[in-house]
Amino acid sequence: MSHIYDLIIIGSGPAGLAAAVYAQRAKLDTLVVEKAMVSGGQVLTTYEVDNYPGLPGIGGYDLGLKFREHADRLGARFVEDEVLKIEDGSRGAVKSVVCQGNTYEARALILATGAVHRKLGVPGEEELAGAGVSYCATCDGAFFRNKVTAVIGGGDVAVEDAIFLARMCSKVYLIHRRNELRAAKSLQENLLSLDNVEVIWDTVADSINGDGMVKSLSLTNVKDGQKRELEVQGVFIAVGISPESRAFEGLVDMDHGYIRAGEDAATSAPGIFAAGDVRTKPLRQIITAAADGANAITSVERYLVEN
Ligand code: NAP
Repeated sequence: MSHIYDLIIIGSGPAGLAAAVYAQRAKLDTLVVEKAMVSGGQVLTTYEVDNYPGLPGIGGYDLGLKFREHADRLGARFVEDEVLKIEDGSRGAVKSVVCQGNTYEARALILATGAVHRKLGVPGEEELAGAGVSYCATCDGAFFRNKVTAVIGGGDVAVEDAIFLARMCSKVYLIHRRNELRAAKSLQENLLSLDNVEVIWDTVADSINGDGMVKSLSLTNVKDGQKRELEVQGVFIAVGISPESRAFEGLVDMDHGYIRAGEDAATSAPGIFAAGDVRTKPLRQIITAAADGANAITSVERYLVEN
């Protein structure tokens, strides 16, 4: 018979790792199932994190490692596997986490699978992915030293990416569909102070063009309908995130793919909790993901005592 854990945490971003820390302190028999080879989630691809209290300006990769080291220090147990589906979400039942490599069982689950980059959905995007089209400036920016690049989007990620790229690219265009950025004001100020960044407002990309490598972007100004061709060697797409929740369809209630759960992390399925970017919430940040991990453990403890 397989081992039945008190708790399985699925995902090892800030929410999953904070939950692992709290679970160890609560002496819950816990397993963390992570898909990626390196823990940390989206934080790993953030160049610099300047809003996590106590650690101003820390590199995203370093912060991800610190979260993991903390969980390791407390003895958290990790396994690398990809979750395919969950069986039995009823109250009091043992839940089976069916993965590619193995099936694991627990009395309670925390779904902390986070989110992934959203695609822009224009011609050329898929064909030129990895050939000038990228979703991660910190991963791929170095390939564009002294080149001209464009970032598409107007949120925190787009503006952070443009600031990061401006350090190495000769010119960076930020292409945004409105005339106002969604990103934090401090990031906007930083961006607009850079000489080699130009914001192209009210503009959408119709296609990414190239022959084996990115050569240009076809743009349309949404206000006056004017079209133009912009020569670039790299296109960084930062148009938001999609929740990683496919494996949980039919198991828990969702809203546009986000798992419906409040601050107590309780989902529609008893004993199954959701934490971090994958749950419905107003603010998706590292600190709110970590807070979710802590709240989820309090709810798990209560559930395990009562069921
Ligand atoms: P986001 O905040 O949802 O912003 C997405 C941006 O892409 C928006 O400006 C949006 O335009 C634009 N967009 C969406 N679909 C588009 C399309 N089809 N064509 C053109 N533009 C499109 O996403 P994000 O920047 O990836 O950030 C994700 C989450 O992580 C956010 O909650 C963010 O606050 C958080 N985050 C926080 C930090 C930090 O605190 N340091 C850093 C990174 C990320 P509109 O503005 O017109 O909607």
